[in-house]
Amino acid sequence: MDFALNKEQTAWQMKARKFAEEEIAPVSLIRDAIADPAETIDWDLVRKGSKLGFRTAVVPKEQGGHGIDYVTQAVVMTELARADSAISKTFSQCWKWSHLISLACTDDQKTRFLKPFLEDDSFVLGFGQTEANSGSDNRMPPPDAPDAGLRLRAERDGDVWVLNGEKQFIAHGNIAKLFFLYVRTDFSVPFTDGTTTLLVPADTPGFRVGKVYNKSGWRFYQNGEMIFEDARVPIANQIGETNGALRKGEGDQSGDMFGDLELAANALGICDAACEQAHAAINTRQARGQPLANQQLVQLKIGKMNMLTEALRSYVMRVAWEHDQKVHSTNPGLAMNLATDTVQEIADLNMSIHDDAGQPMAQAADKLARDAFIWSHLAGDTVQRLKVAGRVIRAV
Ligand SMILES: Cc1cc2nc3c(=O)[nH]c(=O)nc-3n(C[C@H](O)[C@H](O)[C@H](O)COP(=O)(O)OP(=O)(O)OC[C@H]3O[C@@H](n4cnc5c(N)ncnc54)[C@H](O)[C@@H]3O)c2cc1C
Repeated sequence: MDFALNKEQTAWQMKARKFAEEEIAPVSLIRDAIADPAETIDWDLVRKGSKLGFRTAVVPKEQGGHGIDYVTQAVVMTELARADSAISKTFSQCWKWSHLISLACTDDQKTRFLKPFLEDDSFVLGFGQTEANSGSDNRMPPPDAPDAGLRLRAERDGDVWVLNGEKQFIAHGNIAKLFFLYVRTDFSVPFTDGTTTLLVPADTPGFRVGKVYNKSGWRFYQNGEMIFEDARVPIANQIGETNGALRKGEGDQSGDMFGDLELAANALGICDAACEQAHAAINTRQARGQPLANQQLVQLKIGKMNMLTEALRSYVMRVAWEHDQKVHSTNPGLAMNLATDTVQEIADLNMSIHDDAGQPMAQAADKLARDAFIWSHLAGDTVQRLKVAGRVIRAV
C-alpha cells in the first residue's frame, strides 16, 4: 500500500484547503447560528465551490466532470470538512448521485439530467428513501414483516408513473433540482422485490416540499419533507428494471459504497478540526497558574485525540486506496463504523477541554460535537451499520 499523494492529488488537496480556509471557515459559525433551518444554505458559497470543481468532482472526465479518484475524494472531503462538515457534505451528496447518473442512466437520461447538472453551479442532488414509518426497516428488511419498508406508491398510467405519498428527512429535500427516489411499485411482495428507482425533477407537477427539519447539528445541510400528490413522472425517468431497485444482483443503486468513504473522510475532517481547537485551547487557557497544556490529564486527552485521528486517517486512506485498486472488502462499512465512534469520542474530548461556554472557541467546539452526533443517524444509524458485522462473518 502506498498512500503518498501524486501531483494531481496534492493539487486537489491544496485547492480544497485554500477554499476551506478562505471561504468556508469564515462563514461556518455564522450559517450554523441561523435560526430558520430553511435559511442556512449559502448559495454563493455553493456556486464558488462548484466553479472550483467540488460539486462535479466525481463525474468522469469524458462525461464533462473531473473524474477524481477515491484517494483524491478522501483528501478533498477531509480538507473541506475541517472547515465545516455540513457544507462539505452538500458537495459530496452530489458526488454520490452524479456518480450514479453517469454509471446507471441511459444516454437520454444523461442528456436530460447530467448535462444541466454539469452546467448549473446551484444544481444539487438528493435521494429519497426514508418515510415516516420506514427508516431502519429499509436498510434492515425484517424477514417476518412483509408489509414493512417504504410505501410511497407509484402506479402506471400509460407512459407515466403516478406518485402518492411522502418522504421525510431527505437531505436537500427542499433545495435539490433532481432526486433519486425509491417508490413502491408492487405491494403484493416485500418492498425489497417491489421497489423501483425514479429520477424526479423538483419541478414535477404534484410534488411539493413540506417542512424543513430543525436539526441540532449539520444545520447548513438541509433536510426536507417531500410530499407527492398525483405527481406525474414519465417512465422515461425510470432507472433499471421495474421492481428491481433493491433486488440482489441488480447492481448497487444505493450509493452506499460512496457514502461510507465520503462520510468517514468527512468525520476525519471534524477530528482534525477538534485536535486543532484543543491544541489552541490548552495553550491559551490556564489552570493552577499554568497553561492547561502542562496538566498531565489534559496531555493524555490530547494524546488520545491525536492517536485516534491518525488511526482513522490510516483506515480512510486504506479504504480509498483499495477502491482505486478495485479491491472489494468490508472495510468501507467498518471504516464508517470506526469513524462514527472516533468522531464522537474526539468531539467529546474536545468539548471537555474547552468549557468556556459562550466564547467563540467554545461555540466552535460545541458545533463540532453537534455535527459529530449526526453520525448516529446518518446513512443508516449505528444499529443499522452493525449489519456490516454480518458481512464480515460471511466473508470469512
Ligand atoms: C443528516 C441526515 C441526513 C439524512 N439524509 C437522508 C436522505 O438523503 N435520504 C433518506 O432517504 N434518508 C435520509 N436520512 C434518514 C436516515 O436514513 C434515517 O434517519 C435512518 O435510516 C434511521 O431511520 P429513522 O430515523 O426512521 O429511525 P427508526 O428506523 O425509527 O429507528 C429509531 C431507533 O430504533 C432503532 N431500531 C430500529 N429498528 C431496529 C431493529 N430492528 N433492531 C434494533 N434497533 C432498531 C434504531 O437504531 C434507532 O435507534 C437522513 C438522516 C439524517 C440524520
